Amino acid sequence: MTQLIKPLPGGGLSVPERPVVPFIEGDGVGPEVTRAMRAVTDAAVEAEYGTARRIEWREVLAGGKAFEQTGQWLPEATVQALRVCLVGIKGPLTTPVGGGIRSLNVQLRQGLDLYVCQRPVRWFEGVASPVTHPERVDITVFRENTEDIYTGIEWEAGTPEATKFLRFLQTEMGVTKVRFPASSSFGVKPVSREGTERLVRAAARYAVTTGRHRLTLVHKGNIMKFTEGGFKRWGYDLLEREFADELRDGRLVVDDCIADAFLQNALLKPEAYSVVATLNLNGDYISDMLAAQVGGIGISPGANINYTTGCAVFEATHGTAPDIAGRDTVNPCSLILSAAMMLEYIGWTEAAQRIENALSQCFATGRATADLARFMPGATPLTTTAFTEALTKHIFSIEH
Ligand code: NAD
Repeated sequence: MTQLIKPLPGGGLSVPERPVVPFIEGDGVGPEVTRAMRAVTDAAVEAEYGTARRIEWREVLAGGKAFEQTGQWLPEATVQALRVCLVGIKGPLTTPVGGGIRSLNVQLRQGLDLYVCQRPVRWFEGVASPVTHPERVDITVFRENTEDIYTGIEWEAGTPEATKFLRFLQTEMGVTKVRFPASSSFGVKPVSREGTERLVRAAARYAVTTGRHRLTLVHKGNIMKFTEGGFKRWGYDLLEREFADELRDGRLVVDDCIADAFLQNALLKPEAYSVVATLNLNGDYISDMLAAQVGGIGISPGANINYTTGCAVFEATHGTAPDIAGRDTVNPCSLILSAAMMLEYIGWTEAAQRIENALSQCFATGRATADLARFMPGATPLTTTAFTEALTKHIFSIEH
Protein backbone atom coordinates (compact mmCIF):
# COMPACT_ATOMS: atom_id res chain seq x y z
CA MET A 1 0.00 0.00 0.00
CA THR A 2 1.37 3.43 -0.89
CA GLN A 3 1.28 6.19 1.67
CA LEU A 4 2.21 9.77 2.27
CA ILE A 5 5.20 11.17 4.15
CA LYS A 6 3.86 13.20 7.10
CA PRO A 7 5.44 15.67 9.49
CA LEU A 8 5.74 14.51 13.12
CA PRO A 9 4.40 16.91 15.77
CA GLY A 10 7.75 17.38 17.53
CA GLY A 11 9.74 17.71 14.30
CA GLY A 12 11.03 15.03 11.92
CA LEU A 13 9.08 12.94 9.42
CA SER A 14 6.97 9.83 9.49
CA VAL A 15 7.98 7.88 6.37
CA PRO A 16 6.00 4.86 5.17
CA GLU A 17 7.65 1.89 3.42
CA ARG A 18 6.25 3.01 0.05
CA PRO A 19 6.07 6.80 0.09
CA VAL A 20 4.54 8.68 -2.83
CA VAL A 21 7.18 11.06 -4.19
CA PRO A 22 6.06 13.56 -6.83
CA PHE A 23 8.59 14.43 -9.51
CA ILE A 24 8.77 17.18 -12.13
CA GLU A 25 10.56 15.89 -15.20
CA GLY A 26 11.80 19.31 -16.28
CA ASP A 27 12.53 20.91 -19.65
CA GLY A 28 15.45 20.48 -22.06
CA VAL A 29 17.71 17.79 -20.60
CA GLY A 30 15.15 17.27 -17.81
CA PRO A 31 13.66 14.00 -19.12
CA GLU A 32 17.15 12.49 -19.55
CA VAL A 33 18.43 13.38 -16.07
CA THR A 34 15.12 12.42 -14.47
CA ARG A 35 15.17 8.99 -16.15
CA ALA A 36 18.72 8.41 -14.89
CA MET A 37 17.88 9.68 -11.38
CA ARG A 38 14.85 7.38 -11.04
CA ALA A 39 16.77 4.32 -12.26
CA VAL A 40 19.66 4.95 -9.86
CA THR A 41 17.40 5.77 -6.88
CA ASP A 42 15.26 2.66 -7.43
CA ALA A 43 18.40 0.54 -7.72
CA ALA A 44 19.86 1.92 -4.47
CA VAL A 45 16.61 1.36 -2.56
CA GLU A 46 16.24 -2.19 -3.93
CA ALA A 47 19.90 -3.07 -3.28
CA GLU A 48 19.62 -1.86 0.30
CA TYR A 49 16.10 -2.87 1.37
CA GLY A 50 15.00 -5.53 -1.18
CA THR A 51 11.22 -5.42 -1.59
CA ALA A 52 10.60 -3.97 1.88
CA ARG A 53 10.80 -0.38 0.64
CA ARG A 54 10.09 1.34 -2.64
CA ILE A 55 9.48 4.87 -3.86
CA GLU A 56 6.14 5.33 -5.60
CA TRP A 57 6.99 7.98 -8.16
CA ARG A 58 4.14 10.27 -9.24
CA GLU A 59 4.70 12.68 -12.11
CA VAL A 60 3.43 16.23 -11.63
CA LEU A 61 3.60 18.89 -14.31
CA ALA A 62 5.57 22.11 -14.56
CA GLY A 63 7.37 24.01 -17.32
CA GLY A 64 6.91 23.38 -21.05
CA LYS A 65 5.14 20.03 -20.61
CA ALA A 66 2.62 21.63 -18.21
CA PHE A 67 2.03 24.53 -20.59
CA GLU A 68 1.39 22.17 -23.52
CA GLN A 69 -1.04 20.01 -21.56
CA THR A 70 -2.81 22.56 -19.34
CA GLY A 71 -2.02 26.05 -20.67
CA GLN A 72 -0.29 26.87 -17.38
CA TRP A 73 3.43 26.84 -16.64
CA LEU A 74 2.96 25.88 -13.00
CA PRO A 75 -0.49 24.38 -12.36
CA GLU A 76 -1.84 24.78 -8.83
CA ALA A 77 -2.34 20.97 -8.75
CA THR A 78 1.47 20.58 -8.88
CA VAL A 79 2.09 22.93 -5.97
CA GLN A 80 -0.70 21.20 -4.04
CA ALA A 81 0.75 17.70 -4.72
CA LEU A 82 4.16 18.81 -3.44
CA ARG A 83 2.52 20.37 -0.38
CA VAL A 84 0.52 17.21 0.41
CA CYS A 85 3.24 14.64 -0.39
CA LEU A 86 5.76 16.86 1.46
CA VAL A 87 8.89 15.64 -0.35
CA GLY A 88 9.45 15.90 -4.11
CA ILE A 89 12.16 16.26 -6.72
CA LYS A 90 12.45 18.31 -9.90
CA GLY A 91 14.49 18.54 -13.07
CA PRO A 92 15.53 21.95 -14.45
CA LEU A 93 12.80 24.26 -15.72
CA THR A 94 12.90 26.86 -18.46
CA THR A 95 12.10 30.35 -17.28
CA PRO A 96 9.41 31.35 -19.81
CA VAL A 97 10.46 34.49 -21.64
CA GLY A 98 7.84 37.22 -21.77
CA GLY A 99 6.44 40.13 -19.85
CA GLY A 100 5.46 39.45 -16.28
CA ILE A 101 6.17 35.69 -16.19
CA ARG A 102 8.18 34.87 -13.08
CA SER A 103 10.73 32.10 -12.71
CA LEU A 104 8.94 28.83 -11.97
CA ASN A 105 11.64 27.95 -9.45
CA VAL A 106 11.05 31.19 -7.57
CA GLN A 107 7.26 30.61 -7.72
CA LEU A 108 7.68 27.12 -6.25
CA ARG A 109 10.01 28.34 -3.48
CA GLN A 110 7.65 31.16 -2.57
CA GLY A 111 4.43 29.12 -2.97
CA LEU A 112 5.72 26.43 -0.58
CA ASP A 113 7.71 28.89 1.54
CA LEU A 114 10.87 26.78 1.08
CA TYR A 115 13.09 29.10 3.05
CA VAL A 116 16.34 27.13 3.00
CA CYS A 117 18.29 26.54 -0.19
CA GLN A 118 20.68 23.81 0.93
CA ARG A 119 23.75 22.99 -1.16
CA PRO A 120 26.29 20.45 0.06
CA VAL A 121 29.60 20.76 -1.79
CA ARG A 122 32.19 17.99 -1.67
CA TRP A 123 34.75 16.58 -4.05
CA PHE A 124 34.77 13.11 -5.62
CA GLU A 125 38.20 11.60 -6.24
CA GLY A 126 39.08 11.58 -9.92
CA VAL A 127 37.01 14.64 -10.87
CA ALA A 128 39.15 17.42 -12.36
CA SER A 129 39.20 20.67 -10.39
CA PRO A 130 40.78 24.09 -10.93
CA VAL A 131 42.17 24.14 -7.37
CA THR A 132 45.16 22.25 -5.92
CA HIS A 133 43.33 20.63 -3.00
CA PRO A 134 39.68 20.05 -3.89
CA GLU A 135 39.55 17.28 -1.24
CA ARG A 136 39.64 20.03 1.40
CA VAL A 137 36.24 21.34 0.27
CA ASP A 138 33.40 19.84 2.32
CA ILE A 139 30.98 22.68 2.94
CA THR A 140 27.19 22.78 3.20
CA VAL A 141 25.67 26.13 2.31
CA PHE A 142 22.36 27.24 3.86
CA ARG A 143 21.20 30.07 1.64
CA GLU A 144 18.17 32.11 2.71
CA ASN A 145 15.61 31.56 -0.03
CA THR A 146 12.72 33.99 0.47
CA GLU A 147 14.10 37.47 1.22
CA ASP A 148 16.83 39.89 0.16
CA ILE A 149 16.80 41.57 -3.25
CA TYR A 150 15.33 38.38 -4.76
CA THR A 151 11.86 39.49 -3.69
CA GLY A 152 11.78 41.43 -6.96
CA ILE A 153 10.74 44.80 -5.51
CA GLU A 154 12.40 47.07 -8.05
CA TRP A 155 11.57 49.85 -10.47
CA GLU A 156 13.22 50.68 -13.77
CA ALA A 157 14.85 54.07 -14.36
CA GLY A 158 12.56 56.54 -16.10
CA THR A 159 9.28 54.85 -15.13
CA PRO A 160 6.63 56.75 -13.13
CA GLU A 161 7.21 54.25 -10.27
CA ALA A 162 10.95 54.97 -10.11
CA THR A 163 10.22 58.72 -10.18
CA LYS A 164 7.64 58.36 -7.41
CA PHE A 165 10.04 56.26 -5.30
CA LEU A 166 12.84 58.81 -5.81
CA ARG A 167 10.53 61.64 -4.79
CA PHE A 168 9.56 59.70 -1.65
CA LEU A 169 13.24 59.13 -0.80
CA GLN A 170 14.13 62.78 -1.30
CA THR A 171 11.14 64.53 0.20
CA GLU A 172 9.96 62.15 2.93
CA MET A 173 13.19 60.40 3.91
CA GLY A 174 15.68 63.24 3.37
CA VAL A 175 17.88 61.11 1.12
CA THR A 176 20.47 63.15 -0.77
CA LYS A 177 22.94 60.45 -1.75
CA VAL A 178 21.50 59.16 -5.04
CA ARG A 179 24.36 60.00 -7.37
CA PHE A 180 22.47 60.13 -10.71
CA PRO A 181 18.79 60.49 -9.71
CA ALA A 182 17.27 60.94 -13.17
CA SER A 183 18.74 57.73 -14.59
CA SER A 184 18.66 55.48 -11.51
CA SER A 185 16.71 52.26 -11.16
CA PHE A 186 15.81 51.23 -7.62
CA GLY A 187 15.54 47.94 -5.75
CA VAL A 188 14.47 47.13 -2.19
CA LYS A 189 16.27 44.60 -0.01
CA PRO A 190 14.03 43.29 2.79
CA VAL A 191 15.82 41.22 5.45
CA SER A 192 13.88 40.32 8.59
CA ARG A 193 14.60 38.94 12.03
CA GLU A 194 12.13 36.05 11.46
CA GLY A 195 13.62 35.19 8.07
CA THR A 196 17.13 35.23 9.50
CA GLU A 197 16.22 33.24 12.59
CA ARG A 198 14.55 30.33 10.82
CA LEU A 199 17.46 30.02 8.39
CA VAL A 200 20.16 30.20 11.06
CA ARG A 201 18.21 27.80 13.31
CA ALA A 202 18.06 25.22 10.49
CA ALA A 203 21.79 25.60 9.76
CA ALA A 204 22.72 25.28 13.44
CA ARG A 205 20.56 22.18 13.93
CA TYR A 206 22.19 20.64 10.87
CA ALA A 207 25.70 21.48 12.17
CA VAL A 208 24.89 19.87 15.53
CA THR A 209 23.02 16.77 14.32
CA THR A 210 25.55 15.91 11.60
CA GLY A 211 28.47 16.46 13.99
CA ARG A 212 29.94 19.10 11.73
CA HIS A 213 30.14 21.58 14.63
CA ARG A 214 31.35 24.71 12.87
CA LEU A 215 28.82 27.25 11.61
CA THR A 216 29.89 30.44 9.84
CA LEU A 217 27.53 33.38 9.27
CA VAL A 218 28.53 35.05 6.00
CA HIS A 219 27.32 38.62 5.47
CA LYS A 220 28.23 42.08 4.21
CA GLY A 221 27.19 43.85 7.40
CA ASN A 222 30.14 46.25 7.26
CA ILE A 223 28.40 48.05 4.36
CA MET A 224 24.69 47.13 4.65
CA LYS A 225 24.44 47.64 8.39
CA PHE A 226 20.74 47.01 8.98
CA THR A 227 20.04 44.25 6.43
CA GLU A 228 23.20 42.14 6.30
CA GLY A 229 24.38 43.50 9.65
CA GLY A 230 20.94 42.59 11.02
CA PHE A 231 21.41 39.04 9.69
CA LYS A 232 24.64 38.73 11.66
CA ARG A 233 23.21 40.24 14.87
CA TRP A 234 19.92 38.35 14.78
CA GLY A 235 21.82 35.17 13.91
CA TYR A 236 24.14 35.44 16.94
CA ASP A 237 21.19 36.39 19.22
CA LEU A 238 19.24 33.33 18.13
CA LEU A 239 22.23 31.02 18.59
CA GLU A 240 22.95 32.34 22.07
CA ARG A 241 19.28 31.97 23.01
CA GLU A 242 18.49 28.55 21.51
CA PHE A 243 21.85 26.77 21.35
CA ALA A 244 23.47 27.89 24.60
CA ASP A 245 24.23 24.28 25.72
CA GLU A 246 25.70 23.28 22.38
CA LEU A 247 27.84 26.43 22.29
CA ARG A 248 29.07 25.76 25.83
CA ASP A 249 30.05 22.13 25.29
CA GLY A 250 31.56 22.62 21.83
CA ARG A 251 28.95 20.74 19.78
CA LEU A 252 28.49 24.06 18.01
CA VAL A 253 31.25 26.53 17.21
CA VAL A 254 30.16 29.77 15.55
CA ASP A 255 32.00 32.54 13.78
CA ASP A 256 31.19 35.02 11.04
CA CYS A 257 32.91 36.33 7.95
CA ILE A 258 32.43 39.26 5.58
CA ALA A 259 31.26 37.89 2.21
CA ASP A 260 34.20 39.11 0.10
CA ALA A 261 36.74 37.76 2.58
CA PHE A 262 34.80 34.48 2.63
CA LEU A 263 35.12 34.10 -1.15
CA GLN A 264 38.89 34.53 -0.85
CA ASN A 265 39.25 32.29 2.22
CA ALA A 266 37.11 29.53 0.73
CA LEU A 267 39.62 29.30 -2.13
CA LEU A 268 42.72 29.50 0.06
CA LYS A 269 41.66 27.50 3.13
CA PRO A 270 38.33 25.77 2.48
CA GLU A 271 38.97 23.38 5.38
CA ALA A 272 38.23 26.30 7.73
CA TYR A 273 34.51 26.07 6.82
CA SER A 274 31.90 23.40 7.33
CA VAL A 275 28.35 24.81 7.49
CA VAL A 276 27.67 28.27 6.12
CA ALA A 277 24.52 30.32 6.71
CA THR A 278 24.08 33.33 4.46
CA LEU A 279 21.65 35.67 2.73
CA ASN A 280 20.05 35.00 -0.64
CA LEU A 281 22.37 36.86 -3.02
CA ASN A 282 25.62 35.97 -1.21
CA GLY A 283 24.43 32.37 -1.17
CA ASP A 284 23.90 32.39 -4.92
CA TYR A 285 27.50 33.47 -5.60
CA ILE A 286 29.02 31.28 -2.89
CA SER A 287 27.23 28.08 -3.98
CA ASP A 288 28.41 28.37 -7.56
CA MET A 289 31.99 29.28 -6.65
CA LEU A 290 32.27 26.33 -4.28
CA ALA A 291 30.67 24.05 -6.88
CA ALA A 292 33.31 25.13 -9.41
CA GLN A 293 36.06 24.19 -6.94
CA VAL A 294 34.92 20.55 -6.96
CA GLY A 295 34.10 20.11 -10.63
CA GLY A 296 31.21 22.36 -11.57
CA ILE A 297 27.45 22.63 -11.16
CA GLY A 298 26.92 19.52 -13.36
CA ILE A 299 27.54 17.41 -10.24
CA SER A 300 26.26 19.71 -7.48
CA PRO A 301 23.04 18.73 -5.74
CA GLY A 302 20.58 21.07 -4.08
CA ALA A 303 17.35 21.23 -2.12
CA ASN A 304 14.78 23.82 -1.15
CA ILE A 305 13.42 23.04 2.29
CA ASN A 306 10.97 24.40 4.82
CA TYR A 307 12.31 22.81 8.02
CA THR A 308 9.19 23.96 9.91
CA THR A 309 6.55 22.20 7.76
CA GLY A 310 8.98 19.51 6.52
CA CYS A 311 8.16 20.33 2.88
CA ALA A 312 11.19 19.85 0.61
CA VAL A 313 11.87 19.96 -3.12
CA PHE A 314 15.18 18.48 -4.25
CA GLU A 315 16.53 19.72 -7.57
CA ALA A 316 19.17 19.73 -10.26
CA THR A 317 21.23 22.89 -9.80
CA HIS A 318 22.06 23.33 -13.48
CA GLY A 319 19.64 24.68 -16.10
CA THR A 320 17.84 22.99 -18.98
CA ALA A 321 21.01 22.92 -21.16
CA PRO A 322 19.03 23.26 -24.43
CA ASP A 323 22.27 23.01 -26.45
CA ILE A 324 22.73 19.33 -25.51
CA ALA A 325 19.10 18.25 -24.92
CA GLY A 326 18.13 14.92 -26.50
CA ARG A 327 21.71 13.91 -27.30
CA ASP A 328 22.25 11.41 -24.50
CA THR A 329 25.33 13.34 -23.31
CA VAL A 330 24.03 15.26 -20.27
CA ASN A 331 25.66 14.61 -16.90
CA PRO A 332 22.86 13.35 -14.60
CA CYS A 333 24.90 13.54 -11.36
CA SER A 334 23.40 16.77 -10.01
CA LEU A 335 19.89 15.29 -9.90
CA ILE A 336 21.19 11.86 -8.80
CA LEU A 337 23.04 13.42 -5.85
CA SER A 338 19.93 15.49 -5.07
CA ALA A 339 18.00 12.22 -4.90
CA ALA A 340 20.66 10.92 -2.49
CA MET A 341 20.07 14.05 -0.38
CA MET A 342 16.36 13.28 -0.51
CA LEU A 343 16.91 9.70 0.68
CA GLU A 344 19.04 11.05 3.51
CA TYR A 345 16.32 13.57 4.35
CA ILE A 346 13.66 10.86 4.67
CA GLY A 347 16.01 8.73 6.78
CA TRP A 348 16.93 6.14 4.12
CA THR A 349 20.55 6.93 4.82
CA GLU A 350 22.00 3.57 3.74
CA ALA A 351 20.56 3.91 0.23
CA ALA A 352 21.87 7.48 0.00
CA GLN A 353 25.33 6.32 1.03
CA ARG A 354 25.20 3.53 -1.54
CA ILE A 355 24.65 6.09 -4.32
CA GLU A 356 27.56 8.25 -3.12
CA ASN A 357 29.87 5.22 -2.85
CA ALA A 358 28.94 3.95 -6.30
CA LEU A 359 29.52 7.41 -7.76
CA SER A 360 32.93 7.58 -6.08
CA GLN A 361 33.83 4.23 -7.65
CA CYS A 362 32.70 5.33 -11.11
CA PHE A 363 34.78 8.50 -11.00
CA ALA A 364 37.80 6.79 -9.43
CA THR A 365 37.81 4.26 -12.29
CA GLY A 366 37.51 7.00 -14.93
CA ARG A 367 33.86 6.51 -15.84
CA ALA A 368 32.06 9.79 -16.43
CA THR A 369 29.98 11.70 -18.95
CA ALA A 370 31.89 13.74 -21.55
CA ASP A 371 31.73 17.08 -19.68
CA LEU A 372 33.86 15.58 -16.87
CA ALA A 373 35.73 12.84 -18.76
CA ARG A 374 37.48 15.32 -21.06
CA PHE A 375 39.37 16.74 -18.06
CA MET A 376 40.12 13.36 -16.44
CA PRO A 377 43.32 11.74 -17.72
CA GLY A 378 42.63 8.25 -19.13
CA ALA A 379 38.87 8.52 -18.55
CA THR A 380 36.25 6.98 -20.84
CA PRO A 381 33.51 9.45 -21.86
CA LEU A 382 30.17 7.67 -21.54
CA THR A 383 26.73 8.55 -22.80
CA THR A 384 24.14 9.39 -20.14
CA THR A 385 22.58 5.96 -20.64
CA ALA A 386 25.91 4.08 -20.40
CA PHE A 387 26.99 6.09 -17.35
CA THR A 388 23.67 5.37 -15.62
CA GLU A 389 24.09 1.66 -16.35
CA ALA A 390 27.66 1.67 -15.00
CA LEU A 391 26.51 3.47 -11.86
CA THR A 392 23.61 1.06 -11.35
CA LYS A 393 25.98 -1.91 -11.68
CA HIS A 394 28.23 -0.43 -8.97
CA ILE A 395 25.18 0.14 -6.77
CA PHE A 396 24.31 -3.55 -6.81
CA SER A 397 27.90 -4.75 -6.50
CA ILE A 398 29.30 -2.65 -3.64
CA GLU A 399 29.45 -3.84 -0.06
CA HIS A 400 29.41 -1.30 2.73
P1 NAD B 1 22.46 25.81 -18.18
O1 NAD B 1 22.89 25.29 -16.86
O2 NAD B 1 21.25 25.18 -18.76
O3 NAD B 1 23.65 25.60 -19.23
C1 NAD B 1 24.92 26.26 -19.16
C2 NAD B 1 25.98 25.41 -19.90
O4 NAD B 1 26.32 24.28 -19.10
C3 NAD B 1 25.51 24.85 -21.24
O5 NAD B 1 26.58 24.83 -22.13
C4 NAD B 1 25.07 23.44 -20.90
O6 NAD B 1 25.19 22.55 -21.99
C5 NAD B 1 26.05 23.07 -19.78
N1 NAD B 1 25.42 22.14 -18.82
C6 NAD B 1 24.49 22.45 -17.88
N2 NAD B 1 24.14 21.38 -17.19
C7 NAD B 1 24.86 20.35 -17.68
C8 NAD B 1 24.93 18.95 -17.36
N3 NAD B 1 24.18 18.43 -16.38
N4 NAD B 1 25.76 18.18 -18.08
C9 NAD B 1 26.53 18.70 -19.06
N5 NAD B 1 26.51 20.02 -19.40
C10 NAD B 1 25.68 20.82 -18.72
O7 NAD B 1 22.26 27.38 -18.02
P2 NAD B 1 21.61 28.45 -19.02
O8 NAD B 1 22.01 28.11 -20.43
O9 NAD B 1 21.97 29.75 -18.47
O10 NAD B 1 20.04 28.28 -18.86
C11 NAD B 1 19.18 27.54 -19.74
C12 NAD B 1 17.75 27.56 -19.19
O11 NAD B 1 17.72 26.90 -17.92
C13 NAD B 1 17.15 28.95 -18.95
O12 NAD B 1 15.80 28.93 -19.34
C14 NAD B 1 17.25 29.14 -17.43
O13 NAD B 1 16.24 30.00 -16.96
C15 NAD B 1 17.05 27.73 -16.97
N6 NAD B 1 17.64 27.46 -15.63
C16 NAD B 1 16.92 26.66 -14.79
C17 NAD B 1 17.44 26.32 -13.55
C18 NAD B 1 16.61 25.43 -12.65
O14 NAD B 1 15.56 24.97 -13.05
N7 NAD B 1 17.06 25.16 -11.43
C19 NAD B 1 18.72 26.76 -13.17
C20 NAD B 1 19.45 27.55 -14.06
C21 NAD B 1 18.90 27.88 -15.29
